[in-house]
Amino acid sequence: MPFDAPSPPARLWVPKRVLVTPAAMGWAHGAAMVERAAALGAEVVRLKADRLSGLPADYREAKRTLAVTVASPSRRRPQPIPPSADWRFDLAEGCPAHCSYCYLAGSLSGPPVVRAYANLPEILAELPPLLGKGQVTSADPARAAEGTTYEASCYTDPLGIEHVTGSLAETIRFFGTWDAPVGLRFTTKYDGVEPLLDLAHGRRTRIRFSVNARGTERHEGGAPRMPARLAALRRAAMAGYRIGLTVAPIMPVPAWEAAYDALLADCAAALDGAPEPDLTVEFITHRFTEGSREVLQGWYPGSDLEMDPEQRSRKLTKFGSAKFVFPKATMADLRRALEASAARHLPGARRLYWT
Ligand code: SF4
Repeated sequence: MPFDAPSPPARLWVPKRVLVTPAAMGWAHGAAMVERAAALGAEVVRLKADRLSGLPADYREAKRTLAVTVASPSRRRPQPIPPSADWRFDLAEGCPAHCSYCYLAGSLSGPPVVRAYANLPEILAELPPLLGKGQVTSADPARAAEGTTYEASCYTDPLGIEHVTGSLAETIRFFGTWDAPVGLRFTTKYDGVEPLLDLAHGRRTRIRFSVNARGTERHEGGAPRMPARLAALRRAAMAGYRIGLTVAPIMPVPAWEAAYDALLADCAAALDGAPEPDLTVEFITHRFTEGSREVLQGWYPGSDLEMDPEQRSRKLTKFGSAKFVFPKATMADLRRALEASAARHLPGARRLYWT
């Protein structure tokens, strides 16, 4: 794959409508988001009250809607997020892509609009008091070199909306000037890394690219194809960012063993010659809950993604709800093959977890 070939500009999401609350307009960061969306051609609706109203019920319209709002004190409070990082914090919630397996479908309530938070200074102010206090990288000698880690992509793909929000660049700069053992991490399926390349990131940000076997791409409507993601990974690595691979969601697609082996070989090729990418790999197998299955089958009734509880093992989450994962034997086959491919193609990478 020609990772160094000039790539076409990333296809950017353009919201059709932007709803903005009065409180969000009071923040310069919120007003700038509205201005950028309007410049892209979005219709701007200024709400009269701070409660979001007028959200479209249809999921397609909702995914074309940006709501610029203010994160409440409870939403701003970082939460533990094992096994990925010490803390999670949210710059936004929701994602414009249409992945027919998306875990957000079962996690976020209401129409799937993209909510972006205007009060970024307040969100970032929550992070320093947590320095050294986490239970994942802060507590694990094998990951201690990562410092206190903060995850920014639990409920959104922050790069997919960055050209409108600008929140990720601001956050990367914040970590770049934070002179302490800290790490910002986010995962993305998008490729619009250009605005991040020249930032003073201080190597305190790890960009994790969500990658998968080519056979899974048909389940990822609206997200850039794998070669575009790998080309973006290369550009980020050449700009000195720490790099991660989030191999997800792993599924036994036809000829899966060869397909995942080819994927990890492509990742290695994309990183060839990159200066110290400090590569990490996370493996996440496909799973669903009753709730996410119901929502996703409603949105994407034509999808042939297997979500059959009869073919799965039922496991209880730590919150007491059920999730459906691959049966033990399938899981063991997948794990053996993917870990062997990773060891072969990416011998210098740290494998963080398999789930
Ligand atoms: Fe969900 Fe990620 Fe796909 Fe967005 S890119 S729809 S967050 S799986």
